[in-house]
Amino acid sequence: MTLTVGLDADDTLWHNETFFADVQQRFAALVGHYIDDDAATLMAKLDVRERANLAHFGYGVKSFTLSMIETALELTDDRVSGRDIATIIDMGRAMMTHPVLLLDGVQETIDALATHYRLVLITKGELFHQEAKVAASGLADRFSAVEVVSEKDVATYAGVLQRNNISRDSFVMFGNSVRSDVLPVIEMGARAAHIPFELSWGHEDVDADGFPVLASIRDVPEFLVALR
Ligand SMILES: [Mg+2]
Repeated sequence: MTLTVGLDADDTLWHNETFFADVQQRFAALVGHYIDDDAATLMAKLDVRERANLAHFGYGVKSFTLSMIETALELTDDRVSGRDIATIIDMGRAMMTHPVLLLDGVQETIDALATHYRLVLITKGELFHQEAKVAASGLADRFSAVEVVSEKDVATYAGVLQRNNISRDSFVMFGNSVRSDVLPVIEMGARAAHIPFELSWGHEDVDADGFPVLASIRDVPEFLVALR
């Protein structure tokens, strides 16, 4: 049986959270000019707004940018200047257009995997930005399908498998989020392994175990050989 390998994109193939963390710091510095709260408190308030907005605006940079604007208005009692709102929008724009930086080992591992397996990229977020990142990554032609989804739950994965004619017992998913890339796949009846990234968004953190954890994407080929 030929295995199909599912791969997450953000913080599995390329940097993502690094950019969010950097912009959160700059946001805290900007709002810190208006109020006395320390940077950690300001970032925590932004995080609350960001999570609440997932239900309205979904995942991604545009949603995050709106959350920054909303949080700046709220925390400054609407005193934040038009100039500073423009700076926040510029921060979001810079995130949208930032070059795609592949993580260590990704290029050679994806090249090697593509010669043996059918690869499917499954990424959560905003269609426009995710498609742009896939195109800029130079990896697009290694994947037989690219699925941009708005949430990664059991129903989403079942839909991806159905659309691509993949059976559950032939599918193995890899990604940096236990919540999004590992648990729903296992619950669906397929296999998954966690490849932790050094930074993670609290929203994606869950306390769970009982699944394989790989130190690096470089370990994926050997892991797959052992499954056969
Ligand atoms: Mg990810």
